[in-house]
Amino acid sequence: MDLIESLREGCPVLLDTGGHLRDSAPFCPAGVPAVVALPTSVDEVRHVMRTAHRLGVPVVPQGARTGLAGAANAVDGCVVLSLTGMDRILEIDPANRLVRCEPGVVTATLASAVSQHGLCYPPDPVSRDTCTIGGNIATGAGGICCVKYGVTADYVLGLSVVLSDGRLMRTGRRAVKGVAGLDLTHLFVGSEGTLGVIVEATLALRPARGPASGLLAAFASTRDAGAAVAAVIAAGHTPSALELIDRTTMQAIRDLGHPVEPAATLIAESDGPDQAADVAAMAALCRAAGAVRVEVRQDALGLRRLIAAAMLAIMAGMGGRPTAFIEDVAVPRSHLATLIDQLEIIALDHGLWIGATGHAGDGNLHPIVLFDQDDPDAVRRAEAAYDAIMAAGLRLGGTITGEHGVGLLKRAWLRKELDPESLRLQREIKRLCDPAGLLNPGKVFDD
Ligand SMILES: Cc1cc2nc3c(=O)[nH]c(=O)nc-3n(C[C@H](O)[C@H](O)[C@H](O)COP(=O)(O)OP(=O)(O)OC[C@H]3O[C@@H](n4cnc5c(N)ncnc54)[C@H](O)[C@@H]3O)c2cc1C
Repeated sequence: MDLIESLREGCPVLLDTGGHLRDSAPFCPAGVPAVVALPTSVDEVRHVMRTAHRLGVPVVPQGARTGLAGAANAVDGCVVLSLTGMDRILEIDPANRLVRCEPGVVTATLASAVSQHGLCYPPDPVSRDTCTIGGNIATGAGGICCVKYGVTADYVLGLSVVLSDGRLMRTGRRAVKGVAGLDLTHLFVGSEGTLGVIVEATLALRPARGPASGLLAAFASTRDAGAAVAAVIAAGHTPSALELIDRTTMQAIRDLGHPVEPAATLIAESDGPDQAADVAAMAALCRAAGAVRVEVRQDALGLRRLIAAAMLAIMAGMGGRPTAFIEDVAVPRSHLATLIDQLEIIALDHGLWIGATGHAGDGNLHPIVLFDQDDPDAVRRAEAAYDAIMAAGLRLGGTITGEHGVGLLKRAWLRKELDPESLRLQREIKRLCDPAGLLNPGKVFDD
């Protein structure tokens, strides 16, 4: 019996694979899958993994394909395992402040469901209206409020994982605390589908967040904005958002007709009980750091929503096949301003539009590189700029990825960041979990 017939015996499949080739990252090659499996239960996932293991066929897990590292890209002849059909919330437990769900639940859907119980699931990637909990766990996703509430990893209490040969493994706990054995749960967080398929997650919750208020502060230089970030944190504030939009991006928003300063702008938000005093104190710190304008606003984060439209407007005028490459690099907070200064130089050196936005409170920046995919010279310059950005991040004591992961995009850079013994052990763990090398092959590690 061939692959597709065998799969069909225990799981629905889709033969038109065109919609499942790749995630949202440019530069990364994608192969042509043999078939897409569409499980709706753990048993169906196990059937797919057992079948692929028996026939020696690679399997690529996919969530909503919003990933930005090529980690969900198909390889030739593989089974794409799309988990979006496993989208049930199985249990909301207010007494233990946890939720149990399948991997295909959309992040915003989960957050909205638990809010009906007076609870909150804080991790808020900007893509939360489309990305899935399984994808968030597999990439170790972050987001805007993570500066106060932590990242996805901080909320994963336990997992059910189907291993490469179809065995089902449960990790973790429902208790708040627990240290029994090695922490296999967090081994799977950020493993990008290379160690096993997440089929269920138990996630910690917090009491609902109250309404927030915030401020916008415009600075004459990114260095001043960086100094304000450092001052806010050093003064002991825990803002629920501390985001930065650079001058280049603010100019693009202004060009759309919005009355904003074309200046590096900090968005700070507080959702604590003393938020009025908190916002006033953060505003004073911004002024002391050289802010040229500070505006207290209820919906300060709304400014972020204008970024996508500003990018689209620039791209509309570019001709060819314009692409926005959203990069991800994180440095110690104190080096954020230096990194932004270096981005301006990289943009000039490579003749590209590069804007920088990001989660400044975490030192996590998302440089956005705009280029025409039909212009080989622009593609070459964009790739060179990407290398220069990674190198700058590492030189400043940072990391090649704060939250998007390694995937295909950053495999070569992983070697430059990790200690060789750490990399060796990681490869051995991969071989232990997936001896035949069939699970999301070629991702994260380049051999
Ligand atoms: C506009 C935009 C904004 C974004 N903003 C943010 C942000 O603020 N913060 C952030 O962290 N990311 C952000 N991202 C990146 C992306 O949304 C995240 O990486 C997200 O976690 C991916 O989820 P997904 O469901 O789309 O997974 P996919 O892209 O489908 O897959 C991502 C990885 O997870 C693996 N995977 C998926 N499901 C499973 C599973 N059940 N078991 C095992 N492996 C699995 C895949 O194999 C792949 O390696 C953004 C992306 C876009 C396009």
